[in-house]
Amino acid sequence: MRRIKETFQQQKNTTQFQLMVRFVSLLVSAIVILSIAIMGITIAELYEVTEEQAVLLEGSLKNNEAQEAVEWQKTLVNYGVTDNSPYLIRVGLTSGETVFSSEDAQELYAEFPRLKQLILFDQILWTSEMEPYYYRSFQKRNAHITILVDLEDQFEVIGRIFSLTLFLTVIVILIGAFVTYRFSRKISQSLVKMNEEISQLESSAIEQKLTVSKTPLEVQNIAQSFNELLEKQRQSLKREQEFVTDASHELRTPLAAIRGHVNLIKRRGKTHPQVIPKSLTYIDTESKRMETLVEQLLTLGRLTNQASLQEVDLSSLIQQTVTELSVMGTQNVTVQIEEGILITGQTEHFYQIARNLIENAMKYTEDTGTIGVTLFSNANNIQLVVEDSGIGISNEEKKKIFERFYRVDQSRSSKIPGSGIGLSIVKELVELYQGEITVTDKAPLGSCFTVSFTINHEK
Ligand code: ADP
Repeated sequence: MRRIKETFQQQKNTTQFQLMVRFVSLLVSAIVILSIAIMGITIAELYEVTEEQAVLLEGSLKNNEAQEAVEWQKTLVNYGVTDNSPYLIRVGLTSGETVFSSEDAQELYAEFPRLKQLILFDQILWTSEMEPYYYRSFQKRNAHITILVDLEDQFEVIGRIFSLTLFLTVIVILIGAFVTYRFSRKISQSLVKMNEEISQLESSAIEQKLTVSKTPLEVQNIAQSFNELLEKQRQSLKREQEFVTDASHELRTPLAAIRGHVNLIKRRGKTHPQVIPKSLTYIDTESKRMETLVEQLLTLGRLTNQASLQEVDLSSLIQQTVTELSVMGTQNVTVQIEEGILITGQTEHFYQIARNLIENAMKYTEDTGTIGVTLFSNANNIQLVVEDSGIGISNEEKKKIFERFYRVDQSRSSKIPGSGIGLSIVKELVELYQGEITVTDKAPLGSCFTVSFTINHEK
């Protein structure tokens, strides 16, 4: 019993059921309003016709010359309002005599004091058997005349219209409910099917997708958007997995080297102490590399954290970074920095961008080369340009260098230290501020990295 109740509750919440209920209620309201309107107009029309005819009869009775009871009797016969006529007339003469148009009229008028009136329609009287009569009376010299019109036929017409509308309403509701039930089933069926497919989807099965049905369009759009989202999710999952694999690989290599040297010292340290300084230098270099890598990985992980933003003096930050780094290299560094350029964000982020670009320029440029750092702003954006006369980057590599752990073969095989993460950090940081980073060749030798941030004038 509880189960049936629960199933019904669930059924009640389906689109199919709700659509049907709403459509049927709409239909019923429309039909009820229409029926009330039709009935109202019919009743008003019938009442008006009855009243018009009664007024006509009253008019001609008023013009009548009859005085005595016998003359009135004849007149009524002449008017044809005797037996079976809907008009029942009573003529009360001042002499005390009363003339009735028919026997039925005499019977009805015997009941006359007990006829009931309705508040709104005081021209209509009801007998104890609920038979309706239209009522009208007037005074003529020596007679008081009362006219009652039997409304049985009119009420029969109204009754028939009422039963017909009731019948039609029931038919329309039944057909309407059936049609909407079938139609809404078609719509909700595609949603039910989609839900089933989604619950069977596995995130790892790349080829699995939702079936995109042609109709209804909304469902088609949902399926398409869902498939796109699924694709994006899978790609980001794949990227994350690759990242973890690459990161662990990058960390495992120096670790293995360190352990190798530790073992070497253990085995041969005593007998061949001359290997110790060389191994210690190696361990020191490798552990520094690991430290840098871990720091870079942490920076990548922290990128999404929304810390409080502040106004950063980019001009002095870049100047400081250049001063700090230029002592590490021997290249000739030219600096051209426009004073007082401000930007909203986190100081650490802009420092990382400048540091990585300048460090790269120094790493991939020979000791006698030149490096240029330029910062300027125009009406719409702020630009930071870091250029060098170094080894340059081929066109195919230009896009790839921004990927995580990507290193151009030449630099990987050469002795230049690095992990291939620096530029991917720079790119993500730049994009965090809706900026753009591009790399071009510098003639005759070298590369030129340009970072540009759009100035938001709305603030
Ligand atoms: P890395 O730690 O290897 O420097 P990056 O992500 O900073 O990692 O750079 C990726 C690769 O792009 C580098 O390995 C190098 O091959 C190339 N690269 C970056 N900057 C320069 C540059 N100024 N000149 C030439 N090659 C560069």
